[in-house]
Amino acid sequence: MAKNRYDAIVVGARCAGSPTAMLLARRGYQVLVVDRATFPSDTISTHLVHPPGVAALQRWGLLDRLVATGCPPIHTYAFDFGPFTISGAPGLADAPVAYGPRRTVLDKLLVDAASEAGAEVREGFSVEDVVIEDGRVAGIRGHGKDGRTVAEHAQVVIGADGRHSLVARAVTPEQYHDKPPMLAGYYTYWSGLPMDGRFETYIRPDRAFAAWSTHDDLTLVVGGWPYAEFDANKTDIEGNYLKMLELAPPFADRIRAATREARFVGTAVSNFFRRPFGPGWALVGDAGYNKDFITAQGIQDAFRDAELCATALDQTFSGARSFDAAMGTYQSTRDEQVLPMYEFTCEIAMLEPPPPELQQLLGAVHGTQEAMDGFARVNAGVTSPAEFFSEENVGRIMSHAAAP
Ligand SMILES: Cc1cc2nc3c(=O)[nH]c(=O)nc-3n(C[C@H](O)[C@H](O)[C@H](O)COP(=O)(O)OP(=O)(O)OC[C@H]3O[C@@H](n4cnc5c(N)ncnc54)[C@H](O)[C@@H]3O)c2cc1C
Repeated sequence: MAKNRYDAIVVGARCAGSPTAMLLARRGYQVLVVDRATFPSDTISTHLVHPPGVAALQRWGLLDRLVATGCPPIHTYAFDFGPFTISGAPGLADAPVAYGPRRTVLDKLLVDAASEAGAEVREGFSVEDVVIEDGRVAGIRGHGKDGRTVAEHAQVVIGADGRHSLVARAVTPEQYHDKPPMLAGYYTYWSGLPMDGRFETYIRPDRAFAAWSTHDDLTLVVGGWPYAEFDANKTDIEGNYLKMLELAPPFADRIRAATREARFVGTAVSNFFRRPFGPGWALVGDAGYNKDFITAQGIQDAFRDAELCATALDQTFSGARSFDAAMGTYQSTRDEQVLPMYEFTCEIAMLEPPPPELQQLLGAVHGTQEAMDGFARVNAGVTSPAEFFSEENVGRIMSHAAAP
């Protein structure tokens, strides 16, 4: 078999892998993307796609396809802290709404787009190992449904294989900003629970839960408790989940009028960054950067990685920049863009009551629609927490609230 049959091999074909393959194929590169899953298929993940993720779909020409699936748009984010609710618009004029597409629908749409762009897609193909030659990753070894092991070679192997990434395990990249799991979360789907375009989240001591609409007139309700309760609460997930919803009695009344349509699914994840490149390899999506799901950033982060990594590899393949320089830019841009949100996410995932200064600020945010929109945009990943919680912006919000 000829060596380097492909420019890139992408392992994993969901939110990170398929867009990376699609963007490289659209630039004319030979790309193979493999996944042990077949599509459409589900995965353990809720699926709020904030406006920046929606904007990426729009840039790629895929938003119309998503809209055509009948997924309802979400125009308002409401954060119920008990004494008050901060309710605002999560997006900006060019991408005003979020969507909550089922992963069965979203991931299939992305896989198809990669294939249409010219990438070779092999579903039901499990990668067993990466091929290492002369000290660098040179390909993959794995098997399809017939069980026969084959090897494929490429200039770069891209691990888009999720937080338990086999590619990452093989290349043992530097890992940094590690934090242990903080939250255990469970979700299921309900019919008869209309949301009217609202993403609602309820923040209570040691508990948080959220609800939003998805396909088929269903509403996803996800909630969590501290990781310290993970084992104990496993014995009665439904009971603990319903007890949590009782912390917001009007919402619990709505649940009593609704019907549960699926089993409970849940997990807890650890938090880390990995160096996303090295000789012959790259990482995108959860394989390179994972964080608690409480702020629902993973899908749009995967989309961002796909664009940054595909751009860097294009620069490398075309000879415009060295691999190390281009991929170094990918890493530094990723880290710079996501680090404030990472810290914010990890803080929220602790489910501790906000400290007094933050409580005061949230009370002041509640005072004006502009500040509430700003808060919604932070949670959507549109505005960086660093910007929103800057001294200048906090001063502006507080003085507005103090004004007669
Ligand atoms: C409970 C939970 C709730 C979440 N809720 C949200 C949310 O509301 N919004 C949001 O934006 N994000 C959410 N996330 C995060 C989101 O799921 C991830 O960030 C996103 O799926 C990352 O996409 P990915 O393509 O990097 O990895 P994945 O979606 O994990 O895909 C990896 C793919 O790699 C394949 N693969 C792995 N190993 C191999 C192998 N050896 N051979 C072949 N194929 C392989 C797998 O089959 C899989 O299809 C949530 C996560 C969890 C756990």
